Amino acid sequence: EHEAAGWRFDNTYARLLETLFSPAEPAEVRGPQVAILNHALAHELGLDFRALSAEGAAAVFAGQDLPPGSQPIAQAYAGHQYGGFTVLGDGRAILLGEHRTPSGQRVDIQFKGSGRTRFSRGGDGRAALGPMLREYVISEAMAGLGVPTTRSLAVVTTGEAVHRTGTRKGAVLTRVAASHIRVGTFEYAARRDPEALRALTDYTIARHYPELADAPQKYLSFLRVVSDRQAALVARWQLMGFVHGVMNTDNVAISGETIDYGPCAFMNAYDPATVFSSIDSGGRYAYGNQPNIVHWNLARFAETLLALIDSDPERSVAAATEVLNEFPGRFGAYWLAGMRKKLGLTTERDGDLELIQSLLEWMLKARADFTNTFRDLSAGGPPAGETYRDADFRAWYARWQERLGPTKAPAYELMRSANPVTIPRNHRVEEALSAAEERGDLAPLHRLLEAVVSPYLERADLVEYREPPADERGYRTYCGT
Ligand code: AMP
Ligand code: MG
Ligand code: MG
Repeated sequence: EHEAAGWRFDNTYARLLETLFSPAEPAEVRGPQVAILNHALAHELGLDFRALSAEGAAAVFAGQDLPPGSQPIAQAYAGHQYGGFTVLGDGRAILLGEHRTPSGQRVDIQFKGSGRTRFSRGGDGRAALGPMLREYVISEAMAGLGVPTTRSLAVVTTGEAVHRTGTRKGAVLTRVAASHIRVGTFEYAARRDPEALRALTDYTIARHYPELADAPQKYLSFLRVVSDRQAALVARWQLMGFVHGVMNTDNVAISGETIDYGPCAFMNAYDPATVFSSIDSGGRYAYGNQPNIVHWNLARFAETLLALIDSDPERSVAAATEVLNEFPGRFGAYWLAGMRKKLGLTTERDGDLELIQSLLEWMLKARADFTNTFRDLSAGGPPAGETYRDADFRAWYARWQERLGPTKAPAYELMRSANPVTIPRNHRVEEALSAAEERGDLAPLHRLLEAVVSPYLERADLVEYREPPADERGYRTYCGT
């Protein structure tokens, strides 16, 4: 069965210095059963699970029957959590290795929730079904939206209970990533020893930014390209109304993919102060603060590279600071280019930023739905509905129409490719997860997935997913479940 699935494992990370990881083994579980398999993603990766029996697939994705060539390890890392430094590591994740796709990509295959590792501290290393399905649906929605992200290949239930607030069904998620190397991995290596740091840095450059391998000022260029990817990424989040929720440095992937879907959620009514995470009472990771936090996280990353950038500390700090200072401009340029698309502006004019900002100001005042406002504007005609009767909106709309000029069709076409119809709305996600957790009913999850994996398509049969909730005050999300 393994043969037919098409696995082609390599384990380059496990051949790096042993200080960067620890061998690990998925825990034995009683009754694994498949909850969901991502056949479309499997196909993209040159894998095929259709030949697997139900029991066979469950055994593979619960870690009971490891694919040949895999070499399970837990990765060491550290991180700044809510601003404070901690040593962490994969406490409930196990990396199987790197699958090489037929098109020459190399992707990490990782289990999440497969039991304790050397880095578990007081934790049980397990995960509950609801949160693993939540990561599955939101990461697949992000991929559909065109946002760089880790992907979800499978979720299986383990047949074992996990104890949180109450007893929940245990589950394992199989995650696919360009790699799981984080800012926190660099923070760990830099504090361990110079040899580990250099090995990790050269490895990461070779794996993700091979064009820099022979560049002059290689390590400074590395900092610059990682900053650029992060600027592009957080701009995409802002443009989609995505709130990550726990942007600790251990949750920042050097590849520039969105990683670690914990308390994340999409904003409904536009408000920069939007926070969903139950523990983020200070709003450190609020929607409007995300670009600042990325900048702060990059400063922690830069600190780890100082010794490599230049042997003279003063010159090194000056060079790194210069790169960090470029961040607001880089982010601003990505964001503005993305906002121009969202408003159908195919040319650049001086007043564009002000035009965009005044729409956002109106949205905040009117508590307008972020996703639906942009999509309503994309329809090609004055949007209908009570909210849009407001005089401030009508004044803005007239200005925007004038800015678009006489030929509007290409603008609307561009807008329909930039403004999604369907995002995974919090109330719909909760509805799908409770059906799965409480009744073992996966049908609502499959229907939600159908709506969110092709988010730019108008689907008459899936219109209910466009509606924001009637009232979402008090909606909270949770970490580490
Ligand atoms: P997160 O908040 O998911 O980014 O996780 C932060 C750290 O806590 C990471 O090192 C995780 O591996 C660890 N962790 C989270 N949940 C558990 C658990 N149930 N058992 C062991 N470690 C965990
Ligand atoms: Mg994490
Ligand atoms: Mg996590």
